[in-house]
Order: sequence, then C-alpha cells, then structure tokens
Amino acid sequence: SMEYGPAPEDASGVMQWLDAHGRWFGHYIDGAFTKSSAAKFESKNPATGELLASIAQGEAADVDRAVKAARAALPAWQALTGHQRARYLYAFARQVQKHARKLAVLETLDNGKSIRETRDIDIPLVARHFYYHAGWAQLLGDVTDNGYTGDTDLKGYAPVGVVGQIIPWNFPLLMFAWKVAPALATGNTVVIKPAEFTPLTAMLFAEIADEIGLPKGVLNVVNGDGATGAAIVGHPDVDKIAFTGSTEVGRIIRKATANTTKKLSLELGGKSPFIVFDDADLDSAVEGLVDGIWFNQGQVCCAGSRLLVQESVAERLYDKIRARMETLRIGSPLDKAIDIGAIVDQVQHDRITKLVAMGVAEGATCWQPEIAVPTKGLFFKPTLLTNVHPSSTVAQEEIFGPVLAAMTFRTPAEAVELANNTAYGLAACVWSENVNVALDVAAQMKAGVVWVNATNVFDAAVGFGGYRESGYGREGGVEGLYEYLEPAWVKSEPKMFASIDEKQVLRS
Ligand code: NAD
Repeated sequence: SMEYGPAPEDASGVMQWLDAHGRWFGHYIDGAFTKSSAAKFESKNPATGELLASIAQGEAADVDRAVKAARAALPAWQALTGHQRARYLYAFARQVQKHARKLAVLETLDNGKSIRETRDIDIPLVARHFYYHAGWAQLLGDVTDNGYTGDTDLKGYAPVGVVGQIIPWNFPLLMFAWKVAPALATGNTVVIKPAEFTPLTAMLFAEIADEIGLPKGVLNVVNGDGATGAAIVGHPDVDKIAFTGSTEVGRIIRKATANTTKKLSLELGGKSPFIVFDDADLDSAVEGLVDGIWFNQGQVCCAGSRLLVQESVAERLYDKIRARMETLRIGSPLDKAIDIGAIVDQVQHDRITKLVAMGVAEGATCWQPEIAVPTKGLFFKPTLLTNVHPSSTVAQEEIFGPVLAAMTFRTPAEAVELANNTAYGLAACVWSENVNVALDVAAQMKAGVVWVNATNVFDAAVGFGGYRESGYGREGGVEGLYEYLEPAWVKSEPKMFASIDEKQVLRS
C-alpha cells in the first residue's frame, strides 16, 4: 500500500488458520485446547485496527487445572532420560523452522512489528533457543534423587518443579521461548501466560506441542490479563515464577511471593545508555542507534534510549542522526521494506505521546522527520529529543517507544556518572575507537550486558538480565539454567558408583 518496497508478505494462510479456529481461542491445558472461560478479550492488528481473534480470559479455575496438570505430568517428565527430553526440544526447534513463515506473519499481525524483524530475527532466535536448550537437556542427563547424572558442573542440581511464567507483548514468541525452553530442558513442567495484546503465536506454538506429541500437562498455556497472571503467582502449588514485564508489575509479584517459598526471577524495564565518545566512528554509531532505539518501534527492554554524546561532537552526531531518520520507512508491518511498524496498542501509543509532551514541557527540543505515515493504525514517528536534562522524566522513565533522549557529557567520568544515573541497569553501549577508553568505561557500567561498538547482540548461550530495578536472574546460557534448578545433592547409601563423585576420584 506504500509507494515504495516490494509486495507485502502474503497473510492469507494465517487468515485461513484464524478462520479455521472461528477466530476464537481458549487455553491449552493438559494437552487439550479448551474454551471453558466465558469471558473474552480481543486481539487486534495494531496496524489496521482489524479484529484478529477473541481470546478466553483465564480464570482462577483454569489456572488451577493447568497447575494440577503440570504437577501430574512432572514425575513422568523427569523419569525420561535427558536424551528423551532433548528429542522434544529438538522437535520444537525443527517445527518452528518448518512453520517459520506462518509464525512470522502471525506475530507481525498480532504485534505490529515489521515482517523483516519477525522473519529474520524473532523466529530464527526462537528456533535457536530450542536447539541450544535441547543440547543442555542431553548434557544434563537423567534426573535421579541425587540430581542430574550428565557430565556437567550441574550435577547435584535438580529441577524446581512446576513453574509459572508470565511474559510481555514486545517479543511474544521469543519471550515464550526464553521461558519455556530452559524450563523444559531442566525437567520442569510449565504453566505460561502470554501477554493479552499478543496471545496468538503462543496458540500456534501449542498446536506444535500437540503435533510433536509432547506429553500432556508438560506445557500449559493459559490466556488472560494481569488477573490471570496474578492467579498463577498466587497459586500455592507453583514452585517458581519467572516474569518478564514492567518494573511496576515486577514489584507486585515480588511482594506477592515474599511470604512464600517460591523461587523467583524477574526481567524488567530499562533505560539503557548509548555512549558516544568524540573519537567514535559516528556513522557506525548512527547505525547502532537505528538498531538500538528504532528496532521493534523502541519497544525493547534493553533499547539504547538515552544517547550520551561527548559535547564536542554532539551537533555533528545529531545532524547525522536526523539525516538517517529521514530515510526510515514507517508503515504496514507486512511490507518487506518497512523499518518501523505499528505500536502494539492504543494504551502504549497514548503513553508514548504523553511522555514526549512531558519531555517538551520539561525543556527538551523535539524533532521528527518529514516522512510519510499511514493515516490509519497506531504509528508513531521516530523521535529525537535533544536538550534533555538528566533529571527530567524522559531521561529517567522508560518510554518504550521510538523516542531517543539525547544528553551531552565532557569527560569519561561524567559519561559514567550520567550512564549509571538511573534506577535501571539492563544494557549499555559504548562507542569509541580508543580501546582503553571503551573498556575502562564498559567496566564501570552497572548493566547486565555492555556492548562495545555494537548493539543488540544476543545469543541463547549468553545469560541476559539486569541489575537493580531491571530485575534479577538471567535468561539464556548456563546462568539461565540455574533459575530452573535447585541444589539437590543427596548423599545416599554407597551403591556401586552411584554416590561417588567421579570428578573427585579423577582428581585424587
Ligand atoms: P506488564 O508488566 O504490564 O505486563 C507483562 C505481563 O504481566 C503481561 O502478561 C500481563 O498480563 C502480566 N501482568 C500484569 N499485571 C500482573 C499482575 N498483577 N500479576 C501477574 N501478572 C501480571 O508489562 P508490558 O507492558 O506487557 O511490557 C512492557 C514492559 O516489559 C517494559 O517495561 C519492558 O521493559 C519490560 N520488558 C523487559 C524485558 C527484559 O528482559 N528485561 C523484556 C521485555 C519487556
């Protein structure tokens, strides 16, 4: 529909899938698709306003059935060998690759993010997470009373049990994979709730679970809003909660679990600094920013939303940023040439609008490029705020939109102070051609990940997570496995070999 770019991605197959379901989805509990809940909510395409489907609002009874199914499935799931559990994870990975196009189109319709991103980034990373964790399932081996038998340092650890998982809408299926893959690989069973704005790829994934013959009850998907999430958090028979979402809800969950024995991991918000020194390759830094703040419409927890630039190059960098912003294409997310898609929901669009207005009221200068924006749908132009005061709202609060707040500094020490001057600590970027400056500053960042002359570098093998108000715990890598494990070294009667730590024998 835009004047540039090739033909839009064909969505007819996904529409047929939605129609085949009567555009009405329930939950996936105990290996069955159920629509027991009477109350429904709607999932819309934010780029067009079109109704995609109605979704059941999970009630406490649905959550209870899902938890009971997960509990019942636990012994048989843990009785499998590591290799047998790995086969299911490999099957998920392969099926995600097989259905990659359908999953990408569905994600784009439901979330509003560009097809280029879902097709090239989100869905391939989903498959990667299942492949990676399939490897771990195999390495961990069987679960016995003494924990795992495999040949890893995680011997003597055991699964936590039934885990409740609650995820946000910005990377719906990727966040689903970040939660489900490590939990299943380590021998846990799952009750997961997708975000209410974006429940559809989780339902297609549940069909994949059915297709590969995952034992019933191992993975349960309960749809619903925050009330359904709260029911999972409050359920007495859930052993661990893994949450990704806002810092505000993270706080509620921390309180709700404080009086329980539930294990907890939280992946929350961020206000990540993007530091540019005067000797940086400015053109590369600009490309880094495009990825850092305009990827996924800026709805990224680790978005480089605060630009800190050395004063002497600030105006030159701003000119380059503005010139690059003029070339960003905003429009139909199904258009393969689009850089910036739609904002997920009106609530989020209103929040971004309000925060930008607040930034201007507090003294910032707002600049947007003269680019064509569709008249229909929830679009927000890429936005640059300069003259931002470090203590102002737009410098401190997560906007979760395509808005870059720029500030200047003079010395490296001042850059460090500004960078850490936030309640968050998820990610940081440092741009400099001087390796001494870059590494010195990187080491002083209070952030879970620091990228030097790069941004948004992720891998399933690297633990991702935050400091301070950005939460605690890690997802991915060996660190991520610990979130789903408990130390469980039991010294038993000396059977043949069974109670001997082979490593110690080897060392002695
Ligand atoms: P949100 O906290 O409103 O919602 C997240 C999830 O929590 C949804 O599934 C929602 O239904 C559920 N929920 C809401 N209230 C609840 C309650 N009282 N109890 C239990 N569950 C509840 O956040 P959002 O608006 O969906 O997502 C945006 C936020 O997520 C941003 O702040 C972003 O930074 C953060 N995020 C963080 C990461 C990370 O890895 N650190 C990744 C993605 C998103």
